[in-house]
Amino acid sequence: MLGLIQEKQLLIHTLIDYAADYHGRTEIVTRTVEGPIHRYTYADARQRSKQLANALTRLGVKLGDRIGTLAWNTHRHLECYYGVSGLGAVLHTLNPRLFPEQIVYIANHAEDSYIFVDLTFVPLLEKVQDELKSVKGIVVMTDSAHMPQTTLKNVHCYEDLLAAESTEFEWPEFDEKTASSLCYTSGTTGNPKGVLYQHRSTVLHSFAACMGDCLGLTSRDAVLPVVPMFHANAWGLAYAAPMCGAKLVLPGKDLDGKSVYDLMADEKVTMSAGVPTVWLMLLNYMEEHGLGLPDMSRTVIGGSAAPASMIRTFETKYDVTVIHAWGMTEMSPLGTSGVMTKAIEQLPFEEQLPYKAKQGRVIYGVELKITDDEDNELPRDGVAFGNLLTRGYWITNGYFKGEGGNVLDNGNWFNTGDVATLDEDGFMTITDRAKDVIKSGGEWISSIDLENAAMGHPAVAEAAVIGIFHPKWDERPLLCIVTKAGKDVSKDDIMAFLDGKIAKWWMPDDVQFVDEIPHTATGKIQKTTLREQFKDYTLPTAQTAAD
Ligand code: ADP
Repeated sequence: MLGLIQEKQLLIHTLIDYAADYHGRTEIVTRTVEGPIHRYTYADARQRSKQLANALTRLGVKLGDRIGTLAWNTHRHLECYYGVSGLGAVLHTLNPRLFPEQIVYIANHAEDSYIFVDLTFVPLLEKVQDELKSVKGIVVMTDSAHMPQTTLKNVHCYEDLLAAESTEFEWPEFDEKTASSLCYTSGTTGNPKGVLYQHRSTVLHSFAACMGDCLGLTSRDAVLPVVPMFHANAWGLAYAAPMCGAKLVLPGKDLDGKSVYDLMADEKVTMSAGVPTVWLMLLNYMEEHGLGLPDMSRTVIGGSAAPASMIRTFETKYDVTVIHAWGMTEMSPLGTSGVMTKAIEQLPFEEQLPYKAKQGRVIYGVELKITDDEDNELPRDGVAFGNLLTRGYWITNGYFKGEGGNVLDNGNWFNTGDVATLDEDGFMTITDRAKDVIKSGGEWISSIDLENAAMGHPAVAEAAVIGIFHPKWDERPLLCIVTKAGKDVSKDDIMAFLDGKIAKWWMPDDVQFVDEIPHTATGKIQKTTLREQFKDYTLPTAQTAAD
């Protein structure tokens, strides 16, 4: 027997419609790429998204066509999120931090028909435009006064396009399983692969993001996504904020400590989200200038492990609760969220900290399990660690155009490539990426645990650990450190600091001080580059073992 409930497709345009209809006066504030602060409301954003949908229709864009963007977090990019997907076309967010060759590969693979580009990236597109095979035109996301002199062909000015259109547009109804957006993973091995989201998965993911035990968004929040809209849908915030009518504050291109701080303070931001490197810049700026953030209640840290020292600073010095979250592009991206249980919340802070440093608890809509290399499920005891597998309402079932073949096992589980523990309260702890784990004498050493321990040293700005060949143990850890400006620290200081904080046999065999640690286009430590940098390096202990 079927239930007697209305059939209504879960479509992305309903999010901006809700925000415009019931939170129409709530603001969206942008630090524009041109410089000035721009403000308007959800009601304005819907009107302009409809103008954009009309403009795209006039350009001949149809259901399923891919529309690329090379853009920062701005109100215009938000309009693309709704105008493009609302029309039934596919919003393809290109990551401008990738190498030009990768961008060309991805745009061609996706067969983008138009690319919407911020002023910052016009020179990049000019260089590669002749290699873009499917692109019919470029839209520069600015007004006529700021249109650059450009060699781009078939170029349009965003504001002129919109100005010519009506604000009336009837969003088409289509199947909720229709593709809505496309995001390529940076792919440390092989070519980048496209994750193709649906309207249905995106709306369900937004519900989940708003849940109290996930990101807990409400209409009382002012949300500043530092995480880019070109990376995994800004962790869903560009959809979840309209769903609950939260004020949106979009930082544009300036993500340094001062710019982010000023916007947070001026706009009374209550909640934010970003990768640890961004928070490092903000915390340093606040420390140097003796500033605080009285309106901020919480911040989401994800993309890489949030070091315990960073969590402590946010919580004890600035009274900002850290939500340590984990996910991946293939998961839309949210998988776990570090909201504490009632029992843990009542512990003294230092006893809560180990739980806050875990990657969070499994959220409704996502299933997780860990297995050994023979596919046996491992116990959820917080100790056993193995390959982390997932399935759920917003998890990929295969990459765009079948790249990478079948990615699911018989039970529809997707292997995340992470190695993790799970416990009976649903807490998950990443111990490593499967390819970064250090295999020493048949046992595994977690590079992340070592990095976190080293990050606790007051002179350490950033730490990265890689496995280096060892004649006796196969691999041993090498700790690379960037020191904080003006701080002096020796290898012996670091070793003494680590002593007692990690298992003895996990102690790094050497410490190297470097000027910089390489990062990927999505802000993660680039271990492949680091390994390449140290490929001719020999551990001091290797010599002794060989003698
Ligand atoms: P990319 O496009 O670089 O793959 P993703 O955001 O999809 O970017 O990367 C997902 C991966 O990032 C995860 O599989 C995990 O290894 C890592 N990651 C994400 N969040 C965390 C976290 N909180 N702690 C540790 N690692 C994380």
